[in-house]
Amino acid sequence: MATQPRNSILCPNCAKLISIDERQCPFCGTSNPGRRWKRSFLTRPFNSTEELIRLVLYANIGMFVIALIISPRLPGLSVNPFALLSPANKSLLLLGATGTIPIDQLHRWWTLVAANYLHGGILHILFNMVAFRQLALFNAREYGVARMFIIYTVTGIAGFLASYLVGITFTIGASAAVCGLMGSALYYGKSRGGAYGQMIYKQIGGWAVFLFIFGFLMPGINNWGHGGGLVAGVVLGYVLGYREKTPERLWHKTGAAICLLLTALVLIWAVIVACYYRFL
Ligand SMILES: [Zn+2]
Repeated sequence: MATQPRNSILCPNCAKLISIDERQCPFCGTSNPGRRWKRSFLTRPFNSTEELIRLVLYANIGMFVIALIISPRLPGLSVNPFALLSPANKSLLLLGATGTIPIDQLHRWWTLVAANYLHGGILHILFNMVAFRQLALFNAREYGVARMFIIYTVTGIAGFLASYLVGITFTIGASAAVCGLMGSALYYGKSRGGAYGQMIYKQIGGWAVFLFIFGFLMPGINNWGHGGGLVAGVVLGYVLGYREKTPERLWHKTGAAICLLLTALVLIWAVIVACYYRFL
């Protein structure tokens, strides 16, 4: 049976085999790569793109199911497919819908994070999750999974902050953050250039144009959230850099771990508070 020598580990940043006593990874320069917190907390969630994507999907589905369960009435079996299996507004408000009503009247700033994980119907969540998966896979390939998750989390908050600032009263959905991933993909295509970059830029640009035309034709779509998310995605793509320009650093994983922790705490808090008001 082959065993790894006890004093060797995989570098938490570049995953090359190094000695645990190393002051600095000889391959990527990460300092004190042997620290336990660097090896467990930072790297485990960001080792596999598929796993992180699954985690986000489960969180969205979980919040959707909870929203249905705490709805005071039975979910509507409406003829309108957009209203099919839609949770009541009251349960969405309890679970962290955002906008001027929750923030100004109830002082719930944390809803800027929670609202990204709430959806108003089966088609709403389905569209957003299919788009999320596609764009997350692309972004994780070009930016790495850690930077992808930072972009996803921060652009969702930025999109909802933009829509709050212009006075949108009540809003939910992953689409601000999905637009953020579109923004960083657009930046990647434009910045990288070449045949591949141009193809990406054209394809994602086409989706964005379609989304905004759709958004202005359909009532009830938060175009400010979409626009804010998209702009934030372009800015973050520039600031964080993609793999070809900036290799993945440990601080990318640190940032992503903070985003993950923040999201988890907010969602757990949202569910506890919602159940308290609903059932107690
Ligand atoms: Zn290394």
